[in-house]
Amino acid sequence: MKRWLLPEGGQFYKANLHLHTTVSDGQMTPEEIKEAYRARGYSILAFTDHEIFVPHNDLTDENFLALNAHEIAIDEITVQGDRYQRTYHLNFYAKSRETTLSPVFSESRIVCPSSMALVTDEMRETDARAVYSVPSVNDLIRIGNEGGFFVCYNHPVWSLQNYPDYIGLEGLWGIEVYNHGCVLEDLPDTTVPFDDLLRAGKDVFPVCSDDAHAPVDCFGGWTMIRAASLDYDDVIRALLAGDFYSTTGPEITELSLDDGVLTVRCSEAREVRVVTDWRSYRVAKAAAPKREGDGFVARFQISRIGDKYRAETEPDWKNSYFRVEVADECGKRAYTRPFRVSALPELL
Ligand SMILES: [Zn+2]
Ligand SMILES: [Zn+2]
Repeated sequence: MKRWLLPEGGQFYKANLHLHTTVSDGQMTPEEIKEAYRARGYSILAFTDHEIFVPHNDLTDENFLALNAHEIAIDEITVQGDRYQRTYHLNFYAKSRETTLSPVFSESRIVCPSSMALVTDEMRETDARAVYSVPSVNDLIRIGNEGGFFVCYNHPVWSLQNYPDYIGLEGLWGIEVYNHGCVLEDLPDTTVPFDDLLRAGKDVFPVCSDDAHAPVDCFGGWTMIRAASLDYDDVIRALLAGDFYSTTGPEITELSLDDGVLTVRCSEAREVRVVTDWRSYRVAKAAAPKREGDGFVARFQISRIGDKYRAETEPDWKNSYFRVEVADECGKRAYTRPFRVSALPELL
């Protein structure tokens, strides 16, 4: 019986889940950035201005959806100045378009004059300050989750963060594996923190984004969301379920599992990899997809993951995961969500 790991129904909507406008330190107005992305085939933008939550439902129309969000920064206090300063940057996305206030707002964090002018007395009733520590940041994530938001951990490399900074984070929905603005600053993210969190048993989804502040840093990394419609609720449902992949170029049109065989249908690519937490499998299974019909296909005997773990009497093998990466000739990559072996009975 075929199991669709990306839903068979619905359609793909192209989204950038991280950007800044003149509401904070971006150069384009919300209207201008919508027009720029619409012209490039995007249907969804998440407005993630720094520190202030300003819904943009007025921009939504039948061909475009504005997701309401904001990015917050928790900076380390350091005597060496900000050149060495570590920081947590987190995007909080509202699950409902009706949400008008963020529970993790703190006026003390605002640095952009344009944002300061938008602070209201109602916002000031919240003062969610935090210090640079895992427990304090976890408190913010918990408050956000309980208050109707979900949270993405942004650009760990740009933030100068290491294993101890992120491995204890709880309640994350996603992590950036590609941030176009950081790439343009020569600080590209890696998948290491992503796999570290997965190996620690924390299920997070990979996000490629632009973090656009100006026309020059648009259109580098995006998310293809497989949703029933462009309705706010349907798109949020798809994001929370992991019904999407993130990419800097390659397309994935099918991801399915049938009798232990994983099928990846994609655009022309140099390599498809199945990444797991098991060293040898990770090395052995990269394959070049072959032309089939109007696309390219790679197939993997994924059932061997379970077999190998059983054979090695590894106690945690049921918690093993796999995820897929597609790389093209230019080094552009697509990333699927991870799948736990324990959630796929046919692999047990
Ligand atoms: Zn940031
Ligand atoms: Zn940002």
